[in-house]
Amino acid sequence: MNSVTPKKSLGQHFLTDQNIARKIVGSLTFQDYSAVLEIGPGMGILTGYLSALKNREIKYIEIDPYAVDYLVKKFPEIQNKIITGDILKARLNEIYTFPFAIIGNLPYNISSQIFFKILTCRNLVREVVCMVQKEVADRIISPPGSRDYGILSVFLQAFYRIERLFNVNPKVFIPPPNVISSVIRLKRNEDETLGCDESLFFRVVKTAFNQRRKILSNSLKSLVVNNNRVGDLWHCRPEQLGVQDFIRLTSVLKNSGHDRNISDC
Ligand code: SAM
Repeated sequence: MNSVTPKKSLGQHFLTDQNIARKIVGSLTFQDYSAVLEIGPGMGILTGYLSALKNREIKYIEIDPYAVDYLVKKFPEIQNKIITGDILKARLNEIYTFPFAIIGNLPYNISSQIFFKILTCRNLVREVVCMVQKEVADRIISPPGSRDYGILSVFLQAFYRIERLFNVNPKVFIPPPNVISSVIRLKRNEDETLGCDESLFFRVVKTAFNQRRKILSNSLKSLVVNNNRVGDLWHCRPEQLGVQDFIRLTSVLKNSGHDRNISDC
C-alpha cells in the first residue's frame, strides 16, 4: 500500500512510534462519554487503536482526500465513519448530538483555532486528548502571572481541567517537526456555566488581553458601568487575573454587545 506524501501546508507530521500511539489512545478516560472524534487521522497510527476499541462509537475527520483513501483501504471498517472535511468548518454538534471526546495529533498550524472551535461546543466535548507543540501546551496550562498566560489559557481553564501527560521527541515523526510536542488532556469541569454572562466573559477577556500591557481600567473603559466593586482588580494587568477574577469582573460590567462566536455551539 502506498503511503501518504506529507504535505507541509496541512501540518502533516506522521507519528511512527506505536507505543506512543497506544499511550495516547489509552489516555481517553471514557468517564462521561462513549463516543470519540479523531481529528486528522493522517496515516492512521491512532486510528488502528481507536477502531479496535469495543462498544465505542468512533468517527474521524480528515481534510486530505489522499489520506482518506489510504485510511479506508487500510481500515475498511471506518469507511462510513470518516468525514472528508475541514474541522474548522465542521459543525461539531451535528457530528455528535451527545457528549463525546476529541482525540488527535493536531495540525500545529491550526491548533489554537481548533481549541476555539472546541470551546463553541464545550458542553458536548467532555474530554480532549491531543498532541500539540510544547509551546502551545505551555500557554494553555500556564497559571496567572506567567508570560505564557493569555486568552486561550483563561478560556480553556474556565471550562476544562488540563494536564500535560508527556512530551514527545521530534525524532518519532516523519518528517520530524522543528519543535518538541506535548500530549495534553483536557477534562470538562463540573461547572455547566460560569455563573456570569458568558458572552460578555469572552469579550472581557479578549478585550483585556488585546491590550495586554495596559491596566484594566484603561483597556476595559468601553465596557465599564460601575468600577467601584472591582476596585482591587481595576489596577491590574490581565495576566494577573485568574478565571474567577475574570468572572467577578464580568459580573460587574455592563454588557455592551455580545461576542457570539464562542458561546454558540
Ligand atoms: N494522526 C496522524 C498521526 O498522528 O500521524 C496525523 C497527524 S498530522 C500532525 C495532522 C493531520 O491533520 C494530517 O493528517 C492533516 O492532513 C490533518 N489536517 C490538517 N488540517 C486539517 C483540518 N483543517 N481538518 C481536518 N484535518 C486536518
